Amino acid sequence: MKTQDFILLDEGYGAHNYHPLDVVIERGEGVWVHDVEGKKYLDCLSAYSAVNQGHCHPRILKALTEQASKVTLTSRAFRNDQMGLFLKELCEFTGYEMALPMNTGAEAVETAIKAARKWGYQVKGIASDQAQIIVANGNFHGRTTTVVSFSTEAQYKQDFGPFTPGFVAVEYGSIEALKAAINPSTAAILLEPIQGEGGVIIPPEGYLKEVRELCDQHNILFIADEIQSGLGRSGARFACDHEGVRPDMVILGKALSGGFYPVSAVVADQKVLGLFKPGDHGSTFAGNPLGAAVAREALKVLQEEKLIERSRTLGAYLKAELEKIDSPIIDFVRGKGLWIGLVLKEPARKYCEALRERGILCKETHVNVIRIAPPLVIEQAELDLIVSEFKAVLTASEKVLV
Ligand SMILES: *Cc1c(COP(=O)(O)O)cnc(C)c1O
Repeated sequence: MKTQDFILLDEGYGAHNYHPLDVVIERGEGVWVHDVEGKKYLDCLSAYSAVNQGHCHPRILKALTEQASKVTLTSRAFRNDQMGLFLKELCEFTGYEMALPMNTGAEAVETAIKAARKWGYQVKGIASDQAQIIVANGNFHGRTTTVVSFSTEAQYKQDFGPFTPGFVAVEYGSIEALKAAINPSTAAILLEPIQGEGGVIIPPEGYLKEVRELCDQHNILFIADEIQSGLGRSGARFACDHEGVRPDMVILGKALSGGFYPVSAVVADQKVLGLFKPGDHGSTFAGNPLGAAVAREALKVLQEEKLIERSRTLGAYLKAELEKIDSPIIDFVRGKGLWIGLVLKEPARKYCEALRERGILCKETHVNVIRIAPPLVIEQAELDLIVSEFKAVLTASEKVLV
């Protein structure tokens, strides 16, 4: 079967809820993926930062296969010998007292919302069913019905109502807007410390610190969604670390399992996660031994291969090199770590398609932005290749692109 045959299957049998580039990937290794025709591409998306450790990392693969041959799923009706070790290692890595495992990112966001509401009623004393959570314009926290209830993207909500109440959206990066939205029923402020889907949007310096102070003043929980920004992507353990800020809850997913298996989690202290009682919340697959073994190894790889440090130094190099490209199409470059938004003056899709032709896989976000987020195991020579291919495409004449 060829590329077109696979595309016809997807289009014929699958719901059309995505618009992917026309490349059919058959295998991956590190920063490289191969399509069904044998063509090789450098992956500059890393499955939205889920494969920060690189495709099919051999150590994580070994953990997966070893655990898969022992036991994969016990459900939380029984205990298993992997989950507790995973939670301990996750708490040590993140510096929180407790962790609650889930599977997908959106489920972990839902979990954080439930925890914040419970805290709001039981600890803060908010009147029953009145709790509010402040979020930011341009947010992305997943696709469940409650989570899209507070999206500000019209398409994410279109014809999916009625929506879950209790959320207020304000301008991202504005402390004044947050202050104006706070009232005695505010339980939490939920933010991405850098907005990934929004186009790698970095808030003004000092914003996160001020959010922390505001939350302390008003007895509000600060929840950081670090599903995409965390685990090294921004050149730090968490994007909040850049400002030395410790949120009350951190939401993790994506690279927590190195792309092998959906594993997400909420980490917080006892005062918040300690409020959950047996039966309050759960999921059949959450905390399963296969996911736990995979996540344990994915966290070890992240630390032992110094991927956070690599992201910081190589990201600074990549950004500087991209800024040197003299192209009338580039508006500006922004980013932190190996997480760069190349903002174009026109729609980015055709440039992503031209890059794909040249063996570089990128996906546009918000029409005009190309997000560059390769696996953190990338080498400098491979970054140079990215830069030269971007340069070729962004300085080419229109004829070459069409
Ligand atoms: C990807 C993402 C999510 C949702 O994760 P899923 O695993 O797709 O449910 C939530 N928040 C942020 C910031 C994300 O990048």
